[in-house]
Amino acid sequence: VTSPASVHAARRDRLRDLIGSESGVDALVVTHLPNVRYLTGFSGSNGVLVVARDAGDDRIGTDGRYVDQLAGEAPGLRAVIDRATLAATLDAGPHGRLGVEASLTLGEAEELRSRGLEPVLLTGLVERLRSVKDAGELALLVEACRVTAEAMDALAGEIRVGATEVRLARRLEQLFGELGAEDRAFDTIVAGGPHSAIPHHQPGSRPLETGDLLVIDAGARMGGYHADMTRTFVVGRPPAPWQAEIHAAVEEAQARATEAYLPAARVRDIDAIARAVVAAHGYGEAFTHGLGHGVGLEIHEAPIVGTSSTGTIVPDMAITVEPGVYLPGRGGVRIEDTLVVADAGPRVLTQASRGLREVG
Ligand code: ZN
Ligand code: ZN
Repeated sequence: VTSPASVHAARRDRLRDLIGSESGVDALVVTHLPNVRYLTGFSGSNGVLVVARDAGDDRIGTDGRYVDQLAGEAPGLRAVIDRATLAATLDAGPHGRLGVEASLTLGEAEELRSRGLEPVLLTGLVERLRSVKDAGELALLVEACRVTAEAMDALAGEIRVGATEVRLARRLEQLFGELGAEDRAFDTIVAGGPHSAIPHHQPGSRPLETGDLLVIDAGARMGGYHADMTRTFVVGRPPAPWQAEIHAAVEEAQARATEAYLPAARVRDIDAIARAVVAAHGYGEAFTHGLGHGVGLEIHEAPIVGTSSTGTIVPDMAITVEPGVYLPGRGGVRIEDTLVVADAGPRVLTQASRGLREVG
């Protein structure tokens, strides 16, 4: 992300306010790398950020491999360069009660204690900030989703009976790159025939057969921001009645849930809307996962949308809506879009037909 340094400084200031209202810690030690990136712009694979009560005490630690990258991505932020990154960053102060994230390892917690510092677990502070996107983040999500939908459409035109899941997955990722994405957002799921009943199937060598359901769940990544989209196809002939039936159930659930992503809606209620539609079609037991999740610098982030979720929807959250029905041994259907919450109604970013398209 090429956000100006002031954007990241403002994010740290918002976090500082949250830290101030929590449990009297003297600083938060940020070790979860997507959080480090969100708060500084630094995208290296080793980074420790300390956000202190006084902005003048903020510092970021990394090692010698990232000196130039850090200077370019996080200009103006005090840097500690040391192979023993956590220790050196801690020694640079401030000291006392330090908030830590859930991603801190037991070994790192011992590192704190051995220095007389008291780790206090503060979960989800940065994640709470990250759940609501700013204009720069939304622009990257829009772009990642546009590329994803375009690539998915192009791939659909190339699908043939006999193609393996792995070949289709790699081809889709190649299309992401050709359309300008920096990478795939996660391991592409291509699941044909009975495999389509496995929600997170890992693509294998099975060739597509006539009459298969085919679930493709994939996303492109742009500037660190992740798209997420699923479409279900039928291979080589019109759908069998059972295939059309489960697809209709999922499509209706997806449409009803999408409309429900409105500011102030309870997250759990939206999950319940989708689940009720699927159940009314007689497939309640076959919808075996949550309805959706936030997307951003991570593919799965706050808010998580499921039966036991708490919290409400807020404008500018970026979330997926992805009901599914899975019939073991036979096949499954999932339809997923990434949307942005707005007062005027959800803005769906992965625009493409949701019908059960015949391919091959
Ligand atoms: Zn997905
Ligand atoms: Zn998803």
